[in-house]
Amino acid sequence: MAKSYVGEARKRVGPKRARIRPIVERLAVEHADAAIALRFRSPLELLVSVMLSAQTTDVNVNRVTTTLFEKYHRPEDYLAVPQEELERDIFATGFYRQKAKSIRGTMRMLLDDFDGEVPRTLPELVRLPGVARKTANVVAAELGHAQGIVVDTHVRRLSQRLGLTKQEDPVKIERDLIRLVPRADWARFPHLLIWHGRRVCDARRPRCDDCVLVDLCPSRRV
Ligand code: SF4
Repeated sequence: MAKSYVGEARKRVGPKRARIRPIVERLAVEHADAAIALRFRSPLELLVSVMLSAQTTDVNVNRVTTTLFEKYHRPEDYLAVPQEELERDIFATGFYRQKAKSIRGTMRMLLDDFDGEVPRTLPELVRLPGVARKTANVVAAELGHAQGIVVDTHVRRLSQRLGLTKQEDPVKIERDLIRLVPRADWARFPHLLIWHGRRVCDARRPRCDDCVLVDLCPSRRV
């Protein structure tokens, strides 16, 4: 889209500050079932699931963790087996060597520095080996302590299409979203964009005809 069209489209839909609330409200109605797709029963299982989800699908992770979590219950359990055994147990999630190394390093630190518990703050979470900001944000949000907004490929695409950010870099996109989205919605906002991205606002073929945000979106194609 040429720059002048983008400018015109932005004027037509109005400022993002005025649009953010209806965007969240409409998506919350449209995707009332939006939630994390990973299956877990404890903070530790959540942390391991999110670490395993890098570069693979949530469905694949759930398949692996169904048996993994029957065998490994506490941080000590991940350290009680040889690294090769853990690698075999998580093999199907891909990048299994690096993931096994990160998981074991994380379990070591949980035991040494956090009494075996998963910490809740971002600065503590990102100290864990192999836990980057995105993983930390997902874990903190799911544990009811959202301190940022998760930016994945869907969040990035939809934020740009909806004119909520002009940035490309996930950290800068998150900074823009944090200024815009009410804090109470930080945890659910990414889920809403992810589900809308999967169901309606596809990367290649957005279905603008069926989109509840059509009058709020500067990128609509109808
Ligand atoms: S109107 Fe189209 S481009 Fe905008 S959010 Fe909806 S599907 Fe995506």
